[in-house]
Amino acid sequence: MAEEGPSEDRSPYQRVVLKISGEGFSHAGERGIAMDAVLHMARQTMRAAQLGPQIAIVLGGGNILRGAQFTVGTTAIHEATAHYMGMLATVMNGLALQDALESLGADTRLLTAVRMEGVAEPYIRRRARRHLEKGRIVLLAGGTGSPFVTTDTAAAQRALELGADILLKATRVDGVYSDDPEKNPHAVLYSQLGYEDFRRRNLRVMDHEAITKCAQYNLPVMVFNFKKEGNIERAVRGERVGTLISRNAG
Ligand code: UDP
Repeated sequence: MAEEGPSEDRSPYQRVVLKISGEGFSHAGERGIAMDAVLHMARQTMRAAQLGPQIAIVLGGGNILRGAQFTVGTTAIHEATAHYMGMLATVMNGLALQDALESLGADTRLLTAVRMEGVAEPYIRRRARRHLEKGRIVLLAGGTGSPFVTTDTAAAQRALELGADILLKATRVDGVYSDDPEKNPHAVLYSQLGYEDFRRRNLRVMDHEAITKCAQYNLPVMVFNFKKEGNIERAVRGERVGTLISRNAG
């Protein structure tokens, strides 16, 4: 007898944007790039791609540098400069993930919002869509190309302009909690939330500017833990692996 529910081997989505936080590129509590961690993300992404959807990945950079870390205790660096450094960090992660994916046989393209022709293609929306249509895994580095925002906002922006069905945010916690689960053991994990609930309760994990963008265009967001083996595939298969933030949830 046929099983009910989402198909085991197909994704219900045509196109997804996957945001991978910088923490996915290093070991817990460490900084920099650990290639075994990158390969772990690459293997999961490959299996997710085999489920059929077009995949664009927006790269975080927090494993190397976040602009905000320079805003306290120093006046020697302008905050905007620090944010540009953060954007460059995402390019390094992109280069690492691209090689990891290609070592597994994937066809990829790395596009960056900060122009650096010798390293990666410039981000051009139509070009990104074309690569996706050809079945390439598209890696999007450099955030939005502008300072003072995070790569979550870049992910929301790209998901909207590329016409993704869902924004999948892979992070180091299981989803959206009522409080920081790494500090408060009583924090409650939500399985679903409305955009308004997320904003009103001032919840963290995903930045509010990004959620506001998604709410405006009714783009669902799934926040889940990348460390759990197979979670990226599950999310791509349409399973509820973390917290779903959408208009009707909550
Ligand atoms: N950043 C930026 N503009 C963008 C995206 C990122 O200025 O459009 C900078 C910002 O300083 C940010 C850093 O790049 O802190 C690294 O990105 P993020 O902190 O979002 O990485 P993640 O938390 O996902 O690892």
